[in-house]
Amino acid sequence: MKPFKPETYTDFTKPANRKIMEKTLAKIESEFGKEYSIVIGGERIKLDNKFHSYNPSKKGEVIATFQKADEKTAEKAMEVALKTFESWRYTPAKKRAQYLFRMAEIMRKRRYELSACMVFEVGKNWLEADADVAEAIDFCDYYGHEALRYDHGPKLIQYPGERDTQTYIPLGVGLVIPPWNFPLAILTGMTTAAFVSGNTVILKPSSDSPFIAAKFMEIVEQAQVPVGVVNFMPGPGALAGDYLVRHPKTRFIAFTGSKSVGLRIVELAGKTQPGQIWIKRVVAEMGGKDAIVVDSEADIDSAVNGVRASAFGYQGQKCSACSRLILDDKIYDKFMAKFIPTVEAIKVGPVKNFDNYMGPVINESAYKSMLEYIDIGKKEGQLMCGGEPAEGDGWFIRPTVIGDVDAKARIFQEEIFGPILAVARARDFNHAIELANDTEYGLTGAVYSKNPKKIEKAKREFFVGNLYTNRKCTGALVGVHPFGGFNMSGTDSKAGGPDYLLLFTQAKAVAEYIVKETRKKVVEKPTKIKKAKHGKAKQHKKRS
Ligand code: NAD
Repeated sequence: MKPFKPETYTDFTKPANRKIMEKTLAKIESEFGKEYSIVIGGERIKLDNKFHSYNPSKKGEVIATFQKADEKTAEKAMEVALKTFESWRYTPAKKRAQYLFRMAEIMRKRRYELSACMVFEVGKNWLEADADVAEAIDFCDYYGHEALRYDHGPKLIQYPGERDTQTYIPLGVGLVIPPWNFPLAILTGMTTAAFVSGNTVILKPSSDSPFIAAKFMEIVEQAQVPVGVVNFMPGPGALAGDYLVRHPKTRFIAFTGSKSVGLRIVELAGKTQPGQIWIKRVVAEMGGKDAIVVDSEADIDSAVNGVRASAFGYQGQKCSACSRLILDDKIYDKFMAKFIPTVEAIKVGPVKNFDNYMGPVINESAYKSMLEYIDIGKKEGQLMCGGEPAEGDGWFIRPTVIGDVDAKARIFQEEIFGPILAVARARDFNHAIELANDTEYGLTGAVYSKNPKKIEKAKREFFVGNLYTNRKCTGALVGVHPFGGFNMSGTDSKAGGPDYLLLFTQAKAVAEYIVKETRKKVVEKPTKIKKAKHGKAKQHKKRS
């Protein structure tokens, strides 16, 4: 088997690739309006209550229709997932991993289609959408390899006369609740990690991205993952989601989303229900208010590029996005003089068009909330650029920079999750790190400096789960940058890292006493017998 290696990105500067993407976009657009079912144990379910997925680049345009799962549907999903767990839990890891490798292969083949779905449903530009698919493929491949690695268990010290092992066994039925902003990658990562570990899953996608989630479910089926292992249940979080978070048979919840919903899940899951015989495990990855520090000794041009990409890539709607920029006072004016024109040059519009770097924000309520924050920001600092909606029939906002913001300002403290960057001045590098740490979050951060001592200080004191130096603070790669944050950014689960599957398993230690008959059978291995005999004597002594 080939070792894991992250996927390379599609090169859209090649006319042939551009052509394929244009054709695929047209095909997906021509298929708008389909209806998708809930899938539980392979059964397709339609309900009277429905909801739509919309194109944020074109107000009111329906992409597809979905069923609003209710408590009854959730209960059915739980029953099926519980039943399926009884066989899936004993399916060998090698077989489980094969399904993930198969899914990765299918995603490679459907790469353009998956990207095109994201361009329409969540407004990702082509490069961002392609990177999202690449990450989803990486998760399948990486967790497949990881499942095989975990299958061996750790090496334990062997007590004389015993065979001592530790294996990682699954937990049970898990509820997977992903966000819309990496609608394929994060959904795939959380779901595959859960089921490759031997658990069964009820997947409740975000109501802003059920279309791409339905494509994922198609891939699960195409890979012939046994029915009932993954159950697809779109619908409002407050209905079926809440019900399953409370459910006594839910063994674990893997959540990625906002702080408020995450904390609510942690609280609800913490309350033991009648009949519940375990402590629910909650993996909760939440928001960020990520900072980039640009030191007086930084390469300004490189910092300008890194901040621009981190703050405005995918409209600032990444949990890792830079939303706080901290500039050493000595270079503040120089940096801004170079930076602002590059921000003003950003093209905003429907990302169906390759030339638009920034697309729409996800929906109307996000759009309204961002415009409110811009108004707050105008009072809290100096508007340097943007600060208004961009032209077009979608939820478009101009990339906005607000300078000279106080560290306690709301726009410097609260997660906005859009293309709005707050900039503060620092007296020196120590002050800059102090400002960077002055937040309830702790997800990503970056420092630009040519001074190795300052870099060392940042490595030691900048309190974030993912720190980058002299590069942007977005773009974590599976297997390379295990991802997860501190404090209110979540449980630091380190998705895409070597510890991640541990969260979906429990370790069982077995001490197998080697009985006499067994020892006789291994007579031809004299050294082992000698050890065992010696061990037996020792053991009796100890236990008496
Ligand atoms: P959200 O919290 O609104 O929704 C996340 C998911 O929770 C969705 O599937 C939603 O339907 C569901 N949900 C909502 N209410 C629920 C309830 N009562 N019970 C169960 N499920 C419920 O977040 P979002 O808008 O989808 O995503 C944006 C947020 O996610 C941002 O705060 C961002 O920082 C965060 N995020 C964090 C990471 C990370 O790794 N830390 C990654 C991506 C996004």
